[in-house]
Amino acid sequence: MGVAGSVLVINAGSSSLKYQLVQPAGGEVWAEGLVERIGEELSTITHEQGGAETTAELALPDHQAAIECALGYVADGGIDLASAGLAAVGHRVVHGGRSFYAPTLIAPFVISEIDRISTLAPLHNPANLVGIRAAAELLPEVPSVAVFDTAFFHGLPEAAATYAIDRELAAEHAIRRYGFHGTSHEYVSQRAADFLGRGYDDVNQIVLHLGNGASASAISGGRPVDTSMGMTPLEGLVMGTRTGDVDPGLVLHLNRVAGLGVDEIDTLLNKRSGLRGLCGENDFRAVADLIAAGDEHAALAYDVYVHRLRRYIGAYLITLGRVDAITFTAGIGENSAKLRADALRDLQRYGIDVDDDRNLMRSKQARRISTDDSAVAVLVVPTNEELAIARQAVAVVARPDVSGETAP
Ligand code: AMP
Repeated sequence: MGVAGSVLVINAGSSSLKYQLVQPAGGEVWAEGLVERIGEELSTITHEQGGAETTAELALPDHQAAIECALGYVADGGIDLASAGLAAVGHRVVHGGRSFYAPTLIAPFVISEIDRISTLAPLHNPANLVGIRAAAELLPEVPSVAVFDTAFFHGLPEAAATYAIDRELAAEHAIRRYGFHGTSHEYVSQRAADFLGRGYDDVNQIVLHLGNGASASAISGGRPVDTSMGMTPLEGLVMGTRTGDVDPGLVLHLNRVAGLGVDEIDTLLNKRSGLRGLCGENDFRAVADLIAAGDEHAALAYDVYVHRLRRYIGAYLITLGRVDAITFTAGIGENSAKLRADALRDLQRYGIDVDDDRNLMRSKQARRISTDDSAVAVLVVPTNEELAIARQAVAVVARPDVSGETAP
């Protein structure tokens, strides 16, 4: 199968742009890349196509310039996207608020609604919109589809989605738990059910997405019943640079006693906390290197990370009652055997028994790392958000009746 029918997947961050040209049916990746430090004096682009990787530094003042540059690299590699017969451009959009719970064909009202929801994701949704507008201008003939990171968790039970605060104030300001990484949790949980040879509706599972951002979900028969991220992607597990759960009183204390303003607290909690706050490194491999070198701050950072993760696993075992599978995914979940072993250590009495040899085996494939006797299957399933977005985008384009679907 050739490039025709492929999807250009765009994930625009506040100062970065990830892109991938992928064939949704078979998953062949024709080109992919990452632009970083958009808007700074020098941006970096790393581009892979046809087995060759190129890196360059150049001035890219905005996302429009970044997308133009990326498309230029794809063209230099021999693919003219404007005439390649693309099926769609698929955009990752972080926050769908209460309005969007399905992949949605981009139309003017969709853009204004994503813009309106930006108050809930001030760092992310505006960047996503810039990506959407830039792609529309550069590839005007190709339909664009927004795939929302919150969508999978749209149907969370009210008890899991509601914060115990003044209900009128919460309603007025759309304050509730939305959940994020939904595309990954959905994709991985479906793959896990396939791997077990069971129907999606039939499996109760816990998915642990452990990358730079990290989140856990409890999924009962294909329906998410709880997840660790909340109104924003700050809640829940310890992450590379984010706190995860903290006592909200800490925020007041930082303001009243430490004298930090709202923006400083925002930066502190989102960018200077988590593993980085505890030991100076946010990359898990760098933390592991520090621990190996005897750094006690890094050792504590790791222990805090594992402690929080086990707390969520314990909670979701009770929430689900019966658990068929616990699945690790994303950079840390897929690669760190030690973290997987520590997260599930000494849980045999709960039917969870990781096999040390299976856990240590490296592979890019979905695999089982629990013993044959373990009642709960412990799996490692590589996530692929780009492929999931591409598949959802073509499904929308093929079924125009579902396009523009919004909550009533
Ligand atoms: P992601 O956001 O899914 O790309 O995951 C990024 C995280 O995965 C970073 O913290 C990396 O250090 C971590 N990671 C990637 N490869 C490995 C590895 N081989 N061992 C441990 N952590 C890894």
